[in-house]
Formats: sequence, C-alpha cells, structure tokens
Amino acid sequence: MDTTVFEVIKKYFSKVFISAHSVARSFLSSLPYLFNLSEWHKEVTEQYPDPISSRSAEDLPARTRGLLFNKIEKCTGCSECEKVCPTRAIFLECEEGYDTSRPWVSIFNIDFSRCVFCGMCVEVCEPQSLVHTKQYEGAVYNKTDLVSSFGRGRVTQEQRAKWATLKQQNKMEGVLA
Ligand code: SF4
Ligand code: SF4
Repeated sequence: MDTTVFEVIKKYFSKVFISAHSVARSFLSSLPYLFNLSEWHKEVTEQYPDPISSRSAEDLPARTRGLLFNKIEKCTGCSECEKVCPTRAIFLECEEGYDTSRPWVSIFNIDFSRCVFCGMCVEVCEPQSLVHTKQYEGAVYNKTDLVSSFGRGRVTQEQRAKWATLKQQNKMEGVLA
C-alpha cells in the first residue's frame, strides 16, 4: 500500500510531539529538586570540593582505606606486604645497613595504578609501618606519577665508609672504656 504525503507529515509531527513531550516530562520531574520542594525532592549530590559542609579527609571514618603510607623507619623489610598483595603493586629491595641485624629498605615502591585498596598489606604488616591514610585524591596526569616511593635509597660507597669508621670508633671507645 502506498504511503501518502499526508501520512509521512503526520508521522513526522507525531515523532516531534513525542520527543517534545518526553523532554517536557523530564524537565518537570526534575524541577522540584531544583527548589528542594520536599523531603522527597532533596538534593543528594554535593559539589566537589564541598564548600558548604567543609568536609575534609579527616572527617572520613577511622577505617577508611585511603592512599598507603609507609613509615619507613619502622619497616623491617620483611616483604610480607609484597607477598600478600594480589595485584603486585608493591616492590621492595633491601640491603645491609648500619645495623646488621635489620635490613636497610632501599627501595619501597607502591604502584597506585595497580592497587585495589584491599588493605591486605596493612593487615600483615607486623610493625604497623604500612598504613592507610585518609587521603583519596590521587589523580595525576602521567601514569608513572602513580608510583610512590618510600624507600631510604641505595647505600652509597661514602655512606658505607662512614658507617665503617663510626663502627670502628665505637669499637675503640668500647675497648678504652
Ligand atoms: S591495598 Fe591491596 S592491592 Fe593495594 S598494595 Fe596493599 S595489598 Fe596490594
Ligand atoms: S609488611 Fe610492613 S614491615 Fe614488612 S616489608 Fe611490608 S611495610 Fe615493611
């Protein structure tokens, strides 16, 4: 059956009407939210950063799993965190330091592009050197900037020589005392 010009025009205007009706309905349903007209129409989204309630990272719950931080002076280099991490986000390397009974953690990197904030590394850290902060703003422009380094750096030849001299001095003082 042939479609007449009149039917095509009718169909076209019908579609225009349906679209306009749909836009008008959406606008009307969102209008009460614009004026906070009732308890049911309260605004639930907040601006970020929120200028009204002045919420900060410190207002977050105590067990918030934010970005990780390693208090390296407490870290024993046991590598339990590295082993337990399901996404291999932690990489560490140790060497002998001044105190031979305790490894010198020269490299301790956390790749936040891999981290899923499961908190397992924090749970296994016996000396509690690895902790979650409440900091959650970690956006960067370059992926490489997502790697945080907490290590003490490699021990240089000069540092090693200095430690050797210091040990010698301590030994001599011990003998003389
Ligand atoms: S929070 Fe989870 S994913 Fe992130 S570094 Fe720790 S163990 Fe790995
Ligand atoms: S588990 Fe804790 S002490 Fe052991 S290497 Fe990791 S951060 Fe350091």
